[in-house]
Amino acid sequence: MEQQSVHGIILTATQIQSPAMDAPTVSLVVPMHDEAGNIAPLYQRIRQCLDAVGESWELVCVNDGSRDDTLIRLEALRAQDDRVVVVDLARNFGKEAALTAGLDHARGQVAIPLDADLQDPPELVPLMLKKWREGYDVVNAVRGVREGEGFLKRVTAHVFYRSINKLSDLEIPRDTGDFRLLSRPVLDALKQLPERRRFMKGLFAWVGFRTTEVLYRRDPRLSGKTKFNYWRLWNFALEGVTSFSTVPLRLSSYLGFIVSLCAFIYAVKIIAATLIFGDAVRGYPTLMVVTLFLGGVQLMALGVMGEYLGRVYEESKQRPIYLVRKVDRSTRMQGDDAHD
Ligand code: UDP
Ligand code: MG
Repeated sequence: MEQQSVHGIILTATQIQSPAMDAPTVSLVVPMHDEAGNIAPLYQRIRQCLDAVGESWELVCVNDGSRDDTLIRLEALRAQDDRVVVVDLARNFGKEAALTAGLDHARGQVAIPLDADLQDPPELVPLMLKKWREGYDVVNAVRGVREGEGFLKRVTAHVFYRSINKLSDLEIPRDTGDFRLLSRPVLDALKQLPERRRFMKGLFAWVGFRTTEVLYRRDPRLSGKTKFNYWRLWNFALEGVTSFSTVPLRLSSYLGFIVSLCAFIYAVKIIAATLIFGDAVRGYPTLMVVTLFLGGVQLMALGVMGEYLGRVYEESKQRPIYLVRKVDRSTRMQGDDAHD
């Protein structure tokens, strides 16, 4: 069968040095939530372009609580080709957790996260591997052209990258999704990051390592529709900011300070006016405006604190990032169901 011809073949120099002799060069890690229609084309394209260049690979598919036929189709594919690994999560844990699960189960010398919808072209993988062999640990795929993404999505993405890079010390590369090559040392570093709520783009940037880029053209989604509407994207952006920046906390104290200063100046003015012109029972509108304004500012500051407190609460529960129902992989590679 064809999988034997692949798992048995040509060990490259790097594989010979590696302790796990049967480990493939590259693990393609794909989080999947309701992606039944994309599985076959994705597999075909990966196979075509990686077998052509003779790289050994595995395809780690994480079924993130799909409600369609995703799991059935994955298992069928897995029966055909044992380079396919199926990690079935206990429920929908969200893309970031699914990706973490996939990366934890990847056994390759490098791992590359991909979107199931073929928005990240597997044809780029050989070029990324070339860069890795030149000595880079991280190869970011940077979107040159974004096809099939509306004006609003492009603008909001732009604003997001600008503000997160201003607000945090970290430089999150612009126009780079999760599609990137991560070498084994980077994967091991990622496993050491304990946070439960994972903003992967930020974590990838945080670990650092020798990084380079390749440019690509982002195609529109192949089939199905995006799981990220604007509300989810907004929450995702908030997640990013609160994970990597405490500037909003500081801003809210500054805002409080400025408002108090204004209130103080205004109080001086009122007292002076009362002393000079006497006390007239007027000023209901002013009172109302000031009270409402202060109330608003206080609620806002409380909300910001709440966001962070909520994160501390989530982290302190120490729940696992994801739960695996079952891992399906070739027995020739000793499967490990471990996860943190
Ligand atoms: N995804 C997932 N779990 C979720 C939502 C999405 O694993 O809860 C996967 C999805 O199947 C796809 C990838 O994350 O492989 C990116 O999702 P999508 O294409 O909907 O996002 P977009 O490209 O529009 O940002
Ligand atoms: Mg997509």
